[in-house]
Amino acid sequence: MLVSICLSSCCSTAFGWGMKGHDIVAAIAANNLKPGVAKKLNRILDGHTLMYYSSWMDFIRKDEPYQYTATWHYANIDAGETYESMPKNPTGDVLTALNEIISKLRSGTLSDSMQTLYVKFLIHLVGDIHCPMHTGHLSDLGANKISVTWFGKPTNLHAVWDDMLVESAKKWSYTEWVDNIDILDRKRKQQLATGTPADWLTETHAVCEKIYEDTPEDSELSYQYMFDNYPVVEQQLLRAGLRLADILNSIYK
Ligand SMILES: [Zn+2]
Repeated sequence: MLVSICLSSCCSTAFGWGMKGHDIVAAIAANNLKPGVAKKLNRILDGHTLMYYSSWMDFIRKDEPYQYTATWHYANIDAGETYESMPKNPTGDVLTALNEIISKLRSGTLSDSMQTLYVKFLIHLVGDIHCPMHTGHLSDLGANKISVTWFGKPTNLHAVWDDMLVESAKKWSYTEWVDNIDILDRKRKQQLATGTPADWLTETHAVCEKIYEDTPEDSELSYQYMFDNYPVVEQQLLRAGLRLADILNSIYK
């Protein structure tokens, strides 16, 4: 799943949650849409589900018409920096992209085809902004340069958090993930769904810094790391799914 590329503008080199993670985020969102909103989205997505498009942005990022979105999947914040203080990527990052997409969707001025496109962007990027290593350090390309082993196989810390934790901990379908983790009561869900994309980025970056602290270069990761960190993965996927639902419910109410 992990594909390494080095963009001339320099930056993170992976996709975000693997396909499973993005499907789970979309499925949690779908599970929390108001019925009228689900109906409108079904029309906007031409009969398709949110899950159908959850990873679409990763597939088209290198296609010429969509190259402008290549840097929208992450915001690499170096050690000692904050999002506010860090040098901004001139081609955009996950926060600038999300703010723009949400504001355009709220404006109600998009053509039908642009609205479809922006909803597809939104479904994916709300997942990415909750993906811890997508706020990783610029100096190590979001931990792509931090070598570790995962059950004895050489890999890097970014890949562990994008894919391996989600894929290894449970062999659930996205539906089974929803059944097992989207279990909070209404009040608790509302509390989790609060905040702005800027708040979520800060929160994700705090999770990311803790991961750096806990996972030095050349760590040999296996069961203990999986058990210790699995709740963090669950938490980030749930936050993303509930927040995506909340944005869509407020735009299409
Ligand atoms: Zn992505």
